[in-house]
Amino acid sequence: MKMTEIAIIGGGPAGLSAAISAAASGARVTLIERDDHLGGQLKKQTHMFFGSKKQYASTRGIDIGDILQEQLAQYKDRVEILTDATVIGIYEDGVLTIEQNDKYMKLKPQRFIVATGASEKFLTFPNNDLPGIYGAGAVQTLMNVYGVKPGSDVLMVGAGNIGLIVSYQLMQAGVNVRAIIDAAPRIGGYLVHASKIRRMGIPILTSHTVKYAYGKDSLEKVTIWQVDERFQPIPGTEQDIEADVMCISVGLSPLAELLWQIGCKMAFVPELGGHVPLRNENMETSLEGIYIAGDVAGIEEASSAMVEGRLAGLCAAFSLGYKAGNYEELRKDCLEQLDSLRSGPVGEKILKGLAKATA
Ligand SMILES: Cc1cc2nc3c(=O)[nH]c(=O)nc-3n(C[C@H](O)[C@H](O)[C@H](O)COP(=O)(O)OP(=O)(O)OC[C@H]3O[C@@H](n4cnc5c(N)ncnc54)[C@H](O)[C@@H]3O)c2cc1C
Repeated sequence: MKMTEIAIIGGGPAGLSAAISAAASGARVTLIERDDHLGGQLKKQTHMFFGSKKQYASTRGIDIGDILQEQLAQYKDRVEILTDATVIGIYEDGVLTIEQNDKYMKLKPQRFIVATGASEKFLTFPNNDLPGIYGAGAVQTLMNVYGVKPGSDVLMVGAGNIGLIVSYQLMQAGVNVRAIIDAAPRIGGYLVHASKIRRMGIPILTSHTVKYAYGKDSLEKVTIWQVDERFQPIPGTEQDIEADVMCISVGLSPLAELLWQIGCKMAFVPELGGHVPLRNENMETSLEGIYIAGDVAGIEEASSAMVEGRLAGLCAAFSLGYKAGNYEELRKDCLEQLDSLRSGPVGEKILKGLAKATA
């Protein structure tokens, strides 16, 4: 069985940042990523990020992933990176099992940082399993990672930031976006993205949802209808939209199965996207030595995922006796950055959620 000091599960912005800060403190780290590359969601984000300079605002997501990997490379003497490697279980004896290239291996770390990100939520309507109906993140992966156009006419369901950004990227790829619909009465994403899309002539229909999807072998047409203020469909408001692709972008759920399995205390916190582990200020869960960071701790943004990762890496290393000279200062800096990222109107919702999830 292999041993390590800190196992970090997930190589997205949270996991990469956790690895950088734990290794910078002096700890030996094993970073495990199920994909064949590091970067998580950043790998497909060709747009420039918002936020503050400290979290690489005005830099494209894909470039932020490269910057983090360059930073991590400085500590290669104490960082082991496993890609194409999926953690399939964490067990009571503190051992985790990894599947890599059809082989299974066991790893016994002294500390864990779980940074597995999130999965896409889906919608219930007749024929929602027709080929051509995707999660918006899946479409972004097809286009921006593999260079594959998903189809020619798209209906986007969800006008949050992901729905708006993916719609724009579809248009950049020459795909016709027929409309964006959202059941909410208001657009959830940043208005700057929505205005850009509207200027290109794409209708954004709020208070609308999907009634029915049609198609013989794959999606051909979608019937949408209006909903009232209680999200109840209004008969007689149906419209048909010809589309061979429907993108569902109705939110993300924390990917917390490993934390359920090991027995972390969990809470259902809608403001954070669903079931999340309880944690303290240092991102340590109810189980000593198991830390979390990023979307698995609550759906937020890459900026906060990176700061949470830094905090978790720092605190996990400190708990092993690695006292980076200015530990208290670094920890305080992370907490202040998180406060500042959560200070806007979107932050209010996150703070409400965190109050329920912080033990
Ligand atoms: C379309 C879109 C646009 C966005 N735009 C912005 C933006 O402008 N600004 C911003 O700040 N944020 C943005 N975000 C949000 C941001 O991308 C996420 O909040 C961020 O990526 C979360 O980081 P993470 O490390 O927690 O998760 P992820 O980036 O999802 O990384 C998790 C990693 O864990 C791996 N993993 C999962 N399970 C296992 C396992 N069992 N074993 C091994 N590996 C595993 C996954 O393969 C993945 O690589 C956007 C997201 C999307 C989808």
